[in-house]
Amino acid sequence: MRFNQIIAITAAIAIVVIQSRYLMQLYGNYIQDLTAELDRTSWITIDKEMNYRMESFNSMINEFTQEQKDSIYSLSPYEENHINLDQSRSLGIIRTSGDSFTQTREDNFLKMGIPMNMPILDSIFCALSPIELPHRFILYNKDMQGVDSIGEFNLKEGNYQKFQPLGFRGWQYLQLDANIPIKNFIETELLGLIVSSLMMLLALGCLLFQLTVIRRKEEELKWRDDATRDIIHDLKNPLTTAMTIAEGMKALNDDAVLHEAMDYNYNKFKHVLLQVEELKDAVSEDRPKDRLQTQQVDLLKLAQRVKEECDLLFADKEHSINIVNKLPEGYRIKANPVMVERIMRNLVENGLKYAEHGVRVEVRLNQTEKGALVEVEDNGWGIAPEYQKKIFKLYYRIPLEGDYRRRGTGVGLASAKTAVRLHRGKIWMKSELGKGSTFSFSLPQE
Ligand code: ADP
Repeated sequence: MRFNQIIAITAAIAIVVIQSRYLMQLYGNYIQDLTAELDRTSWITIDKEMNYRMESFNSMINEFTQEQKDSIYSLSPYEENHINLDQSRSLGIIRTSGDSFTQTREDNFLKMGIPMNMPILDSIFCALSPIELPHRFILYNKDMQGVDSIGEFNLKEGNYQKFQPLGFRGWQYLQLDANIPIKNFIETELLGLIVSSLMMLLALGCLLFQLTVIRRKEEELKWRDDATRDIIHDLKNPLTTAMTIAEGMKALNDDAVLHEAMDYNYNKFKHVLLQVEELKDAVSEDRPKDRLQTQQVDLLKLAQRVKEECDLLFADKEHSINIVNKLPEGYRIKANPVMVERIMRNLVENGLKYAEHGVRVEVRLNQTEKGALVEVEDNGWGIAPEYQKKIFKLYYRIPLEGDYRRRGTGVGLASAKTAVRLHRGKIWMKSELGKGSTFSFSLPQE
């Protein structure tokens, strides 16, 4: 899988995760609000049911004789005449001191044997409930045995449950179970859900679009690479022919002026041919089938040829190219001579090109433990640190203006890097702006 595809998929997963988290938070808040609302409603329901019992009791009591009334009023659930409100609050028997009146009445009713009227309780709850929801009430005695119930019996574990002691004495408990249906959440948060889903789709759509654009660009680049390779192939033949003709004309004629002209032409053709081959190397980076054809290479001889050709190529620029050879006599390295010459030539040409008149280029050839090291140092313009890594990228050119912008394609160093890598060597550089640069590459012996 390509890197940009991984990035896009990661981004898509991130969007979905963020969006799901947001929806879950929204759902959590909805449940929290509704739970608080149901808590309030159940208290009010119990209160109202109590009022109903009170009214029924008052209308009933008038039918009793005075004696019977006195005996009923003398019923008191409490032996000691006080209730610990703080403790009751912490046990959830009351919320506010006002609730203690309700709970005291409850104790009285239970003592008189007038328990909660479940159908009335349920109808009050249905009328007050903020939403219509499946629910049931269960009444327990002090031994936690169910004594009465109303509502839906086959209700699965509800996502709302409230357990309420009735009265201070713990004679009865009321349990409310309810299922909060998801459809209510969807209806309530419909707008938010639509907006957030649209945002998610939009973000995913943008990502998909980006991916498509990248894929198209990649196809276009591949097409360009293929086209470049074809053009290179077509260009190489006429250039080599022109070089052969230049050499042939030299051999046929002794005229010094013609020799100079042919040398000049030969060099120009070779320069173009090398650039064309550099381009081929650079665009062939990921094609290992371009195998190296190696042989024993005399680096000194290559360096001397590069010097001769560059001297001619830069004849109208004041310059010097100095070769410092520290290789042992007769040293040879196994490499592809055309590629190594091209790397050297590119580095020397760059040293001469990106500098003023009077530039000095030194080519140093060294032997190392592992193979050979070639260094090309110039005292030209140098390269600012921010560009030093980028210059090895294909088609990259330092954005220089006016006189400082010299002709080039941004292919040379990228191609040199590819060629060095194919030899399993390394290429690197050091530079100081205004002082010059040193480009080095190593070639392992095997
Ligand atoms: P080209 O020379 O065709 O532009 P290269 O890949 O050879 O392409 O070089 C890339 C860029 O690096 C050049 O455009 C130039 O700005 C910079 N550069 C390369 N060599 C040197 C050097 N010796 N001194 C200063 N700048 C250099």
